[in-house]
Amino acid sequence: ADRGERYWLDELNDEQRAAATHTGGPLLILAGAGTGKTTTLCARVAWLVAEGVPSERILLLTFTRRASREMLQRARGLVPASARVLGGTFHSVAHRLVRRHAAALGLPGGFGVLDAGDAADVLDLLREEAGHAKSRTRFPKKGTLLDIYSRTVNAQLPLSGVIAEHFPWVEDHREAISALFREYTTRKKALGVVDLDDLLLMWRALARDEVIGPRLASSFDHVLIDEYQDVNGLQVDLAQALAGFGCDITVVGDDFQAIYGFRSASAGHILDFPEQFPGTRVVTLERNYRSTQPVLDAANELAAQATRAFPKRLRADRPGGVRPAVIHVRDQGAEAEAVADRILEARENGSDLRDQAVLARTSHDSDQLELELLRRKIPYVKYGGLKYLEAAHVKDFVALLRLADNGGDEIAWFRVLQLVEGLGPASARKAMAVMAGAPRDLAESPLDEMGEGRLAAVPDRLAAWSEAREVIPSGARASADAVIAALVVARDEQRAGPRAEGLREVLAPLVRARYPDGAIRVQDLDQLVAAAHQVGDPRQFVAELVLDPPQSSADLAQPPHLDEDYLTLSTIHSAKGLEWDHVHVLAVYDGNFPACMSAGTSEQIDEERRLLYVGMTRARRTLSMYVPVRYHHRPRGIDDAHGYGKPSRFLTKAVLACCDVTRLPDDPLNPRGAPIVTARRLSVSPDSLFD
Ligand code: ATP
Ligand code: MG
Repeated sequence: ADRGERYWLDELNDEQRAAATHTGGPLLILAGAGTGKTTTLCARVAWLVAEGVPSERILLLTFTRRASREMLQRARGLVPASARVLGGTFHSVAHRLVRRHAAALGLPGGFGVLDAGDAADVLDLLREEAGHAKSRTRFPKKGTLLDIYSRTVNAQLPLSGVIAEHFPWVEDHREAISALFREYTTRKKALGVVDLDDLLLMWRALARDEVIGPRLASSFDHVLIDEYQDVNGLQVDLAQALAGFGCDITVVGDDFQAIYGFRSASAGHILDFPEQFPGTRVVTLERNYRSTQPVLDAANELAAQATRAFPKRLRADRPGGVRPAVIHVRDQGAEAEAVADRILEARENGSDLRDQAVLARTSHDSDQLELELLRRKIPYVKYGGLKYLEAAHVKDFVALLRLADNGGDEIAWFRVLQLVEGLGPASARKAMAVMAGAPRDLAESPLDEMGEGRLAAVPDRLAAWSEAREVIPSGARASADAVIAALVVARDEQRAGPRAEGLREVLAPLVRARYPDGAIRVQDLDQLVAAAHQVGDPRQFVAELVLDPPQSSADLAQPPHLDEDYLTLSTIHSAKGLEWDHVHVLAVYDGNFPACMSAGTSEQIDEERRLLYVGMTRARRTLSMYVPVRYHHRPRGIDDAHGYGKPSRFLTKAVLACCDVTRLPDDPLNPRGAPIVTARRLSVSPDSLFD
């Protein structure tokens, strides 16, 4: 190529280059949206490799699967093809390490990972066992229990403090909750499973260990972390442990984009970084290369409202641009039409669908829009919200895969047994009780790879099947036998592909029989099998599914029609770090931005504002925000008896002064009736004839 060997440095500005080539000591890049933080981080990886650091001694960490994939792709594009850049989400890296050191942590080699849904199910089970389900006092439900648990563990704060601050209404049950959480820990151990929070706890335990810690740290010279504003206390501990054993730490982030407070992340950590990591060099970046100034003006005004604003105004590098649009629409149906209109208009003007995104606070906000997109045949891919893995048939499949590795995984057993026609929860419990009596399977627990001890053993329930089958209804036995036989075969298969294939064979007929849309669901299974073939190691495959859950089957296997043009629909949380030419933000009304449940403290309101800020700053060329003023059914917390909502309180006069505002003629908030600018366009296309 005619580009210089280190061309990526020439493409950076002076501050970015200084950061990319920094040596000696911790580095913090603290800068606003679109200023090139991620770009600089990737250039830094390339520079380190060019300076002779072996690429496998560099670890790139971030929070979401998509962001991590995107960043690794960018970084790999800059280094020689032979260099392997390692990275992933905190959880996926933690899982790899925990697996390698399972024995030291007292886990069986085939330990399973509970996703959030499974963890809630275990808590529910314990809640029932302890008699709380029947008691007349209102004991918190599984979702709340999981929230409390996760917050406590991630923030590393005492339970009593977390309850007092965030869940005061469960105060009366504090002791019972504490007992239940202890039981939860014990039960996970007995089942040979860990949850997502455990993975981080275990990584930290390894990183702090006098023997293992230095070995872990010595495998990396550099650890680079993107989106550091979203770390929680545990993750800070991890970074400190790594630094303590000699890794160089680089972190980048924007305190104004912190949106994970509900998971105990705190933007305070990024501001405290220089204190926690002595000798830190702080680099700030000023110029925004993503958006045009009119979009940034509105975002700056939004940011200026914050109660504890860190003065930072974004300046666009690119000239020109159009003012953001704030579009009042009658209701969600009208919103859907208006959005679809503008998307098609942009497409006619030369923007592909893939350059456009519709962002929403929750995945429900786009329900109406999805119908409209289907009606107009606009293809889209959806990210965030209900996860693909939460679909029942996918969970069934994952449970089968898990059992092939860990016959003691009770949660998976409960699910799998009930797949069989005629086998309900009661008989499943009976069979499990019989199987639980199986001898602990020591043959299954060899010395682990590092020779650091014997892996913990759990009962191998498969071995006890012949007795267990006697306690289930006789009509269900043959079909249950087939499932068990497939599991036995799968257990001996060392590669993920064939293993998944075998299990798919038993599951597919059950799925077809159970669901009216069974044929479509079986296609999902086929995609899982295809993905399993790519991964190789069966345990890694299952873990990846749980740790970085794919959001749709399109996300799992690359869609066959990769070159087709898709619109992106995403929650704002899942859009972090990404950008599109045209961005549409849905449902910018009070009660959604901020959500009513957050109407509380100013800290919570600030986080809600930052969420909108993250959404707005994804836009490269145009930004449209939609304000539905009326609802068919009253959404969360809209108390107005007429069903009228108010525009978001974040759309202040100062923000609106930066935008072009379109109101409805009979809008109660617009009594004088300014004209409607966005009218529905008449369709003259004969397409509908071709249906
Ligand atoms: P966010 O806070 O949203 O994560 P960021 O600070 O990580 O944003 P990037 O995603 O790295 O920003 O960059 C935003 C856009 O600016 C990208 O399209 C990137 O290619 C471009 N960009 C970054 N630095 C430069 C530069 N020096 N010259 C030209 N374009 C740049
Ligand atoms: Mg970024």
